[in-house]
Amino acid sequence: MRKPTRLLFLFTLAASAVLSTQGAPADSVYVLKPARVFDGDVMHEGWGAMVRADKIEAVGPLAELKAPPAAKVIDLPGLTLLPGLIEAHSHVLLHPYNETSWNDQVAHESQALRVARATNHLRATLLAGFTTIRDLGTEGAGYADVGLKQAVEQGIIPGPRMLVATRAIVATGSYGPKGYAEDSHVPQGAEEADGDNLIRVVRDQIGHGADWIKVYADYRWSPDNTAAPTFSLDELKLIVDTARSSGRPVSAHSTTPDGMRRSILAGVETIEHGTAGTPEVFKLMKEHGVALIPTLAATGARPGAKESFQAALAAGVTIGNGSDVGVFAHGTNVLELEAMVRFGMTPVDALKSATSVDARILHMETKIGRVAPGLLADLIAVEGDPSKDISALWHVMLVMKDGVVYKTP
Ligand SMILES: [Zn+2]
Repeated sequence: MRKPTRLLFLFTLAASAVLSTQGAPADSVYVLKPARVFDGDVMHEGWGAMVRADKIEAVGPLAELKAPPAAKVIDLPGLTLLPGLIEAHSHVLLHPYNETSWNDQVAHESQALRVARATNHLRATLLAGFTTIRDLGTEGAGYADVGLKQAVEQGIIPGPRMLVATRAIVATGSYGPKGYAEDSHVPQGAEEADGDNLIRVVRDQIGHGADWIKVYADYRWSPDNTAAPTFSLDELKLIVDTARSSGRPVSAHSTTPDGMRRSILAGVETIEHGTAGTPEVFKLMKEHGVALIPTLAATGARPGAKESFQAALAAGVTIGNGSDVGVFAHGTNVLELEAMVRFGMTPVDALKSATSVDARILHMETKIGRVAPGLLADLIAVEGDPSKDISALWHVMLVMKDGVVYKTP
């Protein structure tokens, strides 16, 4: 019995290896001829790029790109070529709250229903030019993000490459849905854990496929329902140390100065929202190299959000692009970049946030985020020049991921 079993196991491994091999065929070559290239840092007029299989082979002045005869040429007159955009804070298992409240999505929608919606969300995200997302919590949909990620990797559904956080971690009693009879047990939008149990829960989420650990360092649970810190500094350190020994970084939802301070001192790598951040807290973030994901598209209308974002800019904090999309419609992620520019970031810096800066924040700078030889061929082309008018990003005419074309003019 032993030998056949082992053979079957080997066969299964080989089959899954074949299935998970994505990207363009080895002999596929494209020459992309736009009006200009934003390489992740700088705009270059008159440049183009060549792609072989799933990688960028060359980038530079169009006259210097030596294409083999079999290359497919894609003319992109007047368009700007840039790295596939990165969304560092999404929830593909949520749909807009003006359709269905968060409470009702978590408490009343089945996981199958939510996954079916998510497949549409992933397609919309990719076609909007976002070729990589960090999805920060399934909000009650278990580990469905891991399966969705596999479905994209295996070419079953179109979508961006995904980094996932699975269930996310909240302090017992702090999260929701709330407002049910006190003796009824309501499944929560994230996994509750406290004290030493945090070690087990972090490891369990890693075992289920978490690329990042997401923790809620504060939430609306003060007596007047405003945000207040949840985990102690020691608890946050326990989470970070446990995640870090497996090579996983930690992202902290935090809006309050106290929650942010504890998160920074505990060693998290990104702070989500930071809506009530003060100049002192942003100074501390800068000193500790913690990045801010402002999610202005979801929270920018809150009192103080603009002043807080400008304080982060003034302090020189690394600011990534992440919108909390799912709260609003998937595929409209560009709203975040527009909001950052409206609040004072230059269009070029906003473009960097969504490309080279986000790539570094996600530890993927050797694979994505720039138009450079050797990187994955995640490329988009938009009408006009987004370094002059960020809203040009709404007009995506070409989407390529891993050297595979999903949309052409
Ligand atoms: Zn979120």
